[in-house]
Amino acid sequence: MHNTKYVFVTGGVTSSLGKGIIAASLAKLLQERGFSVTIQKLDPYINIDPGTLNPYEHGECYVTDDGAETDLDLGHYERFLNIPTSQANNVTTGRIYQSVINKERKGEFLGKTVQVIPHITDEIKHRIQILGETGDYDIVITEIGGTVGDIESLPYVESVRQLLWEKGHENAIVIHLTLIPYLAAAGELKTKPTQHSVKMLMQSGVSPDILVCRTEHQISEDIKRKLALFCNVKQEDVIQSIDAETIYDVPNLMLDEGLDTVVLKKFNLVSKQEPKLTVWNEFLRKHKNPKHEVEIALIGKYIELQDSYKSITEAFIHAGSSHETKVNVRWIHSESLTPENFEELLKGVNGVLVAPGFGDRGIDGKIKAVQYARENKIPFFGICLGMQMAVIEFAKNVLGLVDAFSTEMKSDCKNPVINLMESQEKVTEKGGTMRLGAWDCTLVKGSRAHNAYQTENISERHRHRYEFNNEYLNQIELKGMKATGTNPKTGLVEVVEIPSHPWFVGVQYHPEYKSTVLKPHPLFVAFIKAALKQSNV
Ligand code: GLN
Repeated sequence: MHNTKYVFVTGGVTSSLGKGIIAASLAKLLQERGFSVTIQKLDPYINIDPGTLNPYEHGECYVTDDGAETDLDLGHYERFLNIPTSQANNVTTGRIYQSVINKERKGEFLGKTVQVIPHITDEIKHRIQILGETGDYDIVITEIGGTVGDIESLPYVESVRQLLWEKGHENAIVIHLTLIPYLAAAGELKTKPTQHSVKMLMQSGVSPDILVCRTEHQISEDIKRKLALFCNVKQEDVIQSIDAETIYDVPNLMLDEGLDTVVLKKFNLVSKQEPKLTVWNEFLRKHKNPKHEVEIALIGKYIELQDSYKSITEAFIHAGSSHETKVNVRWIHSESLTPENFEELLKGVNGVLVAPGFGDRGIDGKIKAVQYARENKIPFFGICLGMQMAVIEFAKNVLGLVDAFSTEMKSDCKNPVINLMESQEKVTEKGGTMRLGAWDCTLVKGSRAHNAYQTENISERHRHRYEFNNEYLNQIELKGMKATGTNPKTGLVEVVEIPSHPWFVGVQYHPEYKSTVLKPHPLFVAFIKAALKQSNV
């Protein structure tokens, strides 16, 4: 039997310390050492998944190939590891309770009283071990969302305690991520909050094996000694995680600190090779030493929280590095774009990206941004709602269908160039009911998309309800916008382009989810190339 090792990552002191990045960096190093690794995130909220959450709550909703709507940390896992994740990689309290309650209704508990311990904790333990039981992974890293001490995290910490006991310390360990604040007035780094959070963890019966300490300043050996003494860890197991210029520096920082080595030591595992990070470091070198610069306008309605567009901004970084180009984003709120000011707000950009979204807020601004890019021959990239807006703008301003719209925003519109798929018409529940996950698409040879991908058959991830209305396809194509990608089975339009424009591409799917450090997404690479060309005009 495959002896999978388990690493649990907990967080203390405060949220937003970057557990996801630490988990992904450790996984990257272990992967470079020849181990197969995956990462899982347990989210303690009651929503079944983040699909129904407003992006202002937790940022972007990430989508996997198997159609799971997940936490944005899974995006980091994929970008770092270059391997796909799935529904099993993200579990929420809602999902745990849902399965326990479903079992109760089926009578599976044989008349027993159903309780947090053991029934909820058993379900959590089962979900943690699902990935290990596939036999595909040497090491599974499980990130426990939230902060130790939160009421909602308690069943998770208890499940970790049980698993540590059942599996033994050579098979399961805990990394606790904490903050070492710097008090400017005292000129000192303070360890007390870490001591308290470790104490809190210990009250639940869990002792950390490794402490990873977020800090703005170097942590001295003295401080490490102190932390080791108070927190029951060895001094070598106190790892500094100093603020980095970019998240992509963190694997190298963790390598220098020896996080991967101490983890392997605890597991009695011998590394097959030293981490080289060759491609990674080449990406970093180009990212940090750009020879060119472009400015891209990103038009969206959630721009107050930039995490809402995490995968898009990361895809810019990957594609930018491949061209040794710094991509500066000009964040433009779609609601702020008006017929009076759009030219002024968009002036000077080398590319326009109209972002995904839902509902009618800011729609007119998005349409104006498309018009600006189309008329001024500025490279344009429309993603999902952005593609739908490109079709609407073209129908309105080129075909002269002034009332063209999407039935999402105007259910009785006369020219629904974007409308609901038939299969969606009867859907009433919001959660998990969109067209989700990976779908095939066939590209037209010689199109911009085909040139970018260098292949005719692609598969990309979706998250939407509305579609290009094929009743308008002929009219639209006659006027110069072409459908250059379609689903081979359903005929649904996946990609539209305007061949007479320098680079105008709209995609119904979300290419940003599949961009990784090792494999920048071809459409982002092509878009940045077009923007670079535009910047030299
Ligand atoms: N609101 C649109 C739809 O449901 C687009 C969704 C998106 O941009 N992800 O079709």
